[in-house]
Amino acid sequence: PIPAQKTGKVTPTMEQWFSLKHQEPDALLFFRMGDFYELFFGDAEAASLALDITLTQRGMHDDAPIPMCGVPVGTAQIYLSRLIRRGFRVAVAEQTETPSKGQKGPLRREIIRVITPGTLTEDELLEAGRANTLLAVIAPDKRRKEQLGAAWIDISTGTLEMLSLKRDTLAELLARLAPSEIVAEPSLIPADYAGLLTPSTACPDQAAAERTIKEAYHVAQIDSLGDFSTEQSIACAVLLNYVRRSQAGGLPRLAPPIDHGLDTIMGLDPATRSSLDILQSRDGGTKHTLFSSVNHTTMAAGTRLLASWLSSPSTDLTLITQRQEGWDWLHQHLQLATTLRDILKQAPDSARALGRISSGRPLPRDLAALRDTLRAANLITEALKAFATDAMPARIRQIGASLYGRADTLLERLDAALNPDLPAKIEDGGVIAPGFDAELDHQRDLRDNSRRLVAQLQVRLAEHYNITSLRIRHHNQLGYVIEVPTAAGRTLRQHEELSFRQGTASLARFSNEELTSLNQAILEASEKADQLERHLFTDLAQQCLNTPALDEIGLALAELDVLLSCATLMARGSWCRPVMTEGQDFSLHACRHPVVEAALQDNPAHNSPFIANDCALPPEKHAILLTGPNMAGKSTFLRQNALAVILAQAGLPLPAQEAKIGIVDRLFSRVGAADDLARGRSTFMVEMTETAAILNQAGPRSLVVVDEIGRGTSTLDGLSIAWATLEALHSQLRCRTIFATHYHELGALLDTLPRLGAYTMAVREWKGEVIFQHEVHPGLAQKSWGLHVAKLAGIPTTIIQRARTLLTRLEEDHRSNHHAASLPLFEQQDPSPQPALPPTALDTIEHTLKELDPDSLSPREAHNVLYQLKTLL
Ligand code: ADP
Repeated sequence: PIPAQKTGKVTPTMEQWFSLKHQEPDALLFFRMGDFYELFFGDAEAASLALDITLTQRGMHDDAPIPMCGVPVGTAQIYLSRLIRRGFRVAVAEQTETPSKGQKGPLRREIIRVITPGTLTEDELLEAGRANTLLAVIAPDKRRKEQLGAAWIDISTGTLEMLSLKRDTLAELLARLAPSEIVAEPSLIPADYAGLLTPSTACPDQAAAERTIKEAYHVAQIDSLGDFSTEQSIACAVLLNYVRRSQAGGLPRLAPPIDHGLDTIMGLDPATRSSLDILQSRDGGTKHTLFSSVNHTTMAAGTRLLASWLSSPSTDLTLITQRQEGWDWLHQHLQLATTLRDILKQAPDSARALGRISSGRPLPRDLAALRDTLRAANLITEALKAFATDAMPARIRQIGASLYGRADTLLERLDAALNPDLPAKIEDGGVIAPGFDAELDHQRDLRDNSRRLVAQLQVRLAEHYNITSLRIRHHNQLGYVIEVPTAAGRTLRQHEELSFRQGTASLARFSNEELTSLNQAILEASEKADQLERHLFTDLAQQCLNTPALDEIGLALAELDVLLSCATLMARGSWCRPVMTEGQDFSLHACRHPVVEAALQDNPAHNSPFIANDCALPPEKHAILLTGPNMAGKSTFLRQNALAVILAQAGLPLPAQEAKIGIVDRLFSRVGAADDLARGRSTFMVEMTETAAILNQAGPRSLVVVDEIGRGTSTLDGLSIAWATLEALHSQLRCRTIFATHYHELGALLDTLPRLGAYTMAVREWKGEVIFQHEVHPGLAQKSWGLHVAKLAGIPTTIIQRARTLLTRLEEDHRSNHHAASLPLFEQQDPSPQPALPPTALDTIEHTLKELDPDSLSPREAHNVLYQLKTLL
């Protein structure tokens, strides 16, 4: 909160602080004072805590000292990045006038930027291989918030995308985009994302929204940018207005908005996404992920593109096939691939360089990055030329066309303009190479000549006054001065032509007319040279921004990088190009889980290799019941089949010998514990919600892999839910399904569900020990091996022995009991609208009572039966 100004007695500087703080009340105000950014009041307290820097005081406000802390301007980036990562927003107020003599009052200060997680452009604050997404979500209808508009941008590259969506698919979009910041009305956004939210109730009407978009893109008609729905244009406008505010009025360079219809993206709900560790593992890391197991890109832009392919697998067969043809061809031309990869290694991140240039903070190395990108583009065109036959696939041909001779004039200019050794900042001078601009060369000559004259003057003066220690030095405040030791200075003071400038304990400083005029000449020439240089630099930067080909070149290089990364995978020999179809095929031959495989390879203690497995779900056996003990590799098998679909539809190679996959429209994966204690939902509740989501959304083109539906409740409850779910997946939804379970009773369904097959995990028993073979075989598991696994996990032997005795007893009871006999209540027909149900507790009670002969019971036995019946309720 901003402290109240009770007395109104404030210093002019603090008055300025208050007025700026009111402009951005939710941000920490970095208030520039000399070489520091200072923070005051609550800002200072929060920042000193978050940054672990000293809290001091400065002046008084309403009779209390003002808390203050500060960070040096030179190292401010480090502090900024820490604050942003902790979820703060920071407003940067700079001095926007230079001090002049006799000025009264404080310098003018203005907020030049508001930095938030979604509006960063600085390299130091960004992760190179990750898109930094700022998302805006709006509901045009204030009362019925069903239809939403979303627009998102990566400011560091200028890519802007938009989408119309229904409220219930928002969670899916959020999981796919993993935004850094969300601008929206809080009620629209799920609680899990509250930390990323920047609340905004802004919702302009359509006309105002269209005006904002037209202004941002400098177009007269919005149609020239594409077809916007009402909610899309409003979302875009909210996004653009927010960005404009964060950049203090300016907008970064924007690529034309892409309408992101979801119809060609495979459906992946948040639960599926998180169970598969696509870009991030469940522990939040990035090491053991699908992405890390396939990433061989060399450029940051390629890394970001690969991540976006993986997080939005396609359902468009043409697109997938084109990507496949691209890397397949590169794989067949390995030498070319090596050459191309070597060139790309030299290519910098042009998209982010352009982003920085457009934000008005270009660095010399940003222009160099664009020059090097253009150079790389030319080298690649050159390398591809020799291969331009009819056999060259469409994708590579398009990449070649985007690169070929697109910005040669710009390249020539950059080549001629930039010095080979560039300074870090333009202020350091020496950015523009000699020979590029005659006037600049002239001013630099003047400056350097005068410097030479100064050197000559020193020799002459030393001789003239006969003082060998006489030097001419440059001094920050005084400019060039004659310097002699104090003793010699006393003699020099006698000479009228010299004017005494300054004395220190050991030195005396003088000047004369010649030196003063040389000084002046040097000063003027360097100032002119600096000005010219800055002007030329800005001109070049502007020219780059006006070259749209640079965007296309950046994208083409990134795509080539991803295709080369795929070719690298193929070169390992154990990856394949899957055959993709529009049908319902699903057959994987010798497929592996890339992440588990990589983890096994990384772990030297583990000398067992990953065991590859087949999986076939042909239309006549599209559902599989998978049984087997814990630790036998069920989850790994389930996940590897789901991951294969993601890889294949992202257009990437598969870790398998052979594969044929019919395009999957929605993928559902429920593997591993699904606790959601944070939201106060029990494991069972989460599982049922997720099962409901599958049953409501899956269709004949979907793939469902589920692990142990029906845990966390009583055995009979669980069994009946699993039973009914499997029946529905098989007979009603008819989707490709792998259903892992511990309920061996479900095996009975094999007799009645015609398209249900069975797989089990192979296990061997050896000298009383269990050995997991990680092989998947047709059939049902014969035993659960639960006690063996418990023993492996370290449960004490005595307890294992006791459990074994109990188990034997229970199994005997079970066999002689009515439960088993009454269980298989099968569907009458397939498909059946009314699946049969397993027995309820009441059925069991009824059955028990029927079987009883009260006359033959002793009172004690009767008493026991009563107890037994009661437990069934
Ligand atoms: P389950 O789900 O049946 O309890 P997991 O799939 O979690 O078993 O597998 C347990 C462990 O077995 C894994 O962490 C992995 O190290 C190993 N494993 C699983 N599948 C394979 C395989 N196909 N080849 C080699 N090791 C495997």
